[in-house]
Amino acid sequence: MSGTVNTVLGPVAVDSLGKTLMHEHFFFGYAGHTGNTKYPIDRDEAIRVGIEVADKAKQHGVKTIVDATPNDSGRDPVLLKEIAERTGLHIIFSTGYYYEGEGAPAYFKFKQGLGTAEDELYELYMDEIQNGVGNTGLKPGVIKLGTGKDAITDYERMFFKVAARVQKETGISIITHTQEGTMGPEQAKLLVSEGADPNRILIGHMDGNTDIRYHLRTLEQGVYVGFDRFGLQGFVGAPMDKDRIGTLIGLIGLGYADQIMMAHDTVNCWLGKPPEWPKEMQKLITNWHVGNIFENIVPALREGGVTAEQIEQILVKNPNRIFGGSESLKARNKNKASGVR
Ligand SMILES: [Zn+2]
Repeated sequence: MSGTVNTVLGPVAVDSLGKTLMHEHFFFGYAGHTGNTKYPIDRDEAIRVGIEVADKAKQHGVKTIVDATPNDSGRDPVLLKEIAERTGLHIIFSTGYYYEGEGAPAYFKFKQGLGTAEDELYELYMDEIQNGVGNTGLKPGVIKLGTGKDAITDYERMFFKVAARVQKETGISIITHTQEGTMGPEQAKLLVSEGADPNRILIGHMDGNTDIRYHLRTLEQGVYVGFDRFGLQGFVGAPMDKDRIGTLIGLIGLGYADQIMMAHDTVNCWLGKPPEWPKEMQKLITNWHVGNIFENIVPALREGGVTAEQIEQILVKNPNRIFGGSESLKARNKNKASGVR
């Protein structure tokens, strides 16, 4: 399987992934959404919206989207497959659970009490990766992990430990959720100390933090960091895009373009009753869509002195490397030659 990654349409050569958004959600629902039975999912409408999103991304040259929706937040690979079939977009989906504060922790906490949670989780990850989700045959291409603000709970730690083991055994890549950009260095250290390959780890939502030194503490673990919430500004602890751009230009200037990835963390279809945003919030998230990076962020980066090659590194080469494509070999040889790492 080397040189390929699982997508909703089966294994695809990593070298054909092209321009990639590493963290979006075609559909997302907070755990509990199924309890509001007045708003069941309208599958036709969800597919219509998904196709619109895929087409918009494709207009900007995007070839691949990683859907980061966890198992306990309405993940639905069958819907994603239909969107991929009808648009030609590569869609890679996740296996994993959301962080304790916003996920559905009751199930695995109960199993932790019985002492069987880790074994069950390992079995679940391996079964989905090797055989597919349920009887769909659809296999996830990444493991999704998450932690809350300023702490990693025992519940969350268990998922990291088991994911590191599965990463080692299967080679699958890992993407994470950090809350307000906190616990990035700790997430990276935990995974690496449990044996996961840092070249296969993206510490997500680090653009929630504008402290360059904090980013450096994460980057020095050899992992990627995600500036993956562009457009989601001014709430859930998110800074404004212009402040994130400043941090990003700083990190690129320090030579880290080969360890950064970008996305928006968009939710394009909310499961349950769609949120009614207060007016102020509506204004703040006007640019929270899959075109924002291409329409607003890249031009601002270019104006700040970031080169076209560096943008290509972030949007094309780094996603290729995290999935083990030919860029990862080039990077390794270059590092060997220059004595780095
Ligand atoms: Zn997300």
